[in-house]
Amino acid sequence: MAKCSNCSSKAIIASEQAFCKKHFIEYFENKAVSTIKKFNMIGSNDRIIVASSGGKDSTAVLYILKKYFGNVEALAIDEGIPGYRSITLQDLEKFCSNNGIPLNIYSYKEEFGFSLKEALQLRKDLSPCHMCGILRRYLLNSKARGFTKIATGHNLDDEAQSIMMNLVKAQMPLLSRLGPVTGNARDSMFIPRIKPLYFCTEKESATYAIANNFAPRFVQCPHSHSSFRAFIRDMMNDYAAVNKKAKINLINNFLKILPQLKAAQSTQLNHCSNCGEPCSKETCKACKLVSSIAVAIN
Ligand SMILES: [Zn+2]
Ligand SMILES: [Zn+2]
Repeated sequence: MAKCSNCSSKAIIASEQAFCKKHFIEYFENKAVSTIKKFNMIGSNDRIIVASSGGKDSTAVLYILKKYFGNVEALAIDEGIPGYRSITLQDLEKFCSNNGIPLNIYSYKEEFGFSLKEALQLRKDLSPCHMCGILRRYLLNSKARGFTKIATGHNLDDEAQSIMMNLVKAQMPLLSRLGPVTGNARDSMFIPRIKPLYFCTEKESATYAIANNFAPRFVQCPHSHSSFRAFIRDMMNDYAAVNKKAKINLINNFLKILPQLKAAQSTQLNHCSNCGEPCSKETCKACKLVSSIAVAIN
C-alpha cells in the first residue's frame, strides 16, 4: 500500500492523493465544511435536522454537523422494510445516543396505516422506489417543520446518478430541483435541503465511515437491485473506470447549467386540499397514493 502524501504513515485510501487515516479524516471533513461554506448552506440562525437512514452517508453528515456546527437533530423514516430498515435504525439509535444527538423516528405504519411491505402486497403494480420517493419525501418535509434546513447524505455518486436518470427521461422539473442546495424559496412550508457531501465520492464516504468506526452494517435496501438507479449507477461506474473524472465533470458541468434550468421552471406552487402540504396540483401525490392504498385495504 502506498504511503500518505502528507506524512510517512501507511495510506488507507489512494485516489488522486494517498492519505493515512488521520489525514484522510481531515481531508474529508474539510471538503464537507468547505462545501457548506461555499454554498452558504448554514447560517447562524439555522436549525438543522439530518434526514438519517442509519447508513454511512447520513451518519457522516450527522457527525460532521455535530462536530463543526453544534446543534443538530436526526430525522428517520421507518418504511417497514424487514431485514433492512430495522437494522439501519438500530445502528442509528446507537450512534445518536453515543453522540448526544436527538433522534426523531416516524413510521409509515403509524403515519399512513400501512408499512411499505404491506402496501406492496396490496398494490403489486407500484414500484417500491416510486412509492418511497413520494412517501419518504412527504414525511421528511412535514416532520422537519420547525427546522430551517434538512441536511441529506447525498454524495457525489448519488448526485451524478440523479442527474443522469433525469436527463435520460428528460425530466426537466426534477433536474432543476437537484444541486447542492434545493428548495423552493417561494413557499416557506417547503424546507430547503442541503447536501454537505456533494463533492465527496461514494468510496470516500465509505472510507470515512470505516475510519471513524461508525460501523454501519452496509446493508442494502432489498429493492435497490431492481431499480432504474442501479442501472444508471453501473453505467456511470463503467464510464468512470475509463475516465476517472467522469462523475465530477458531470457534476461541474451540471452546476454551470443549473441556474438556467431553475429559471426556466416556473411551476405554480399550491397546497394540497386534503393535508395542506405544498404541492403542484390540487391534491398532493402522497395523499393520492395513500388513499389508493386505503381503498385496496378495505
Ligand atoms: Zn498522513
Ligand atoms: Zn396531501
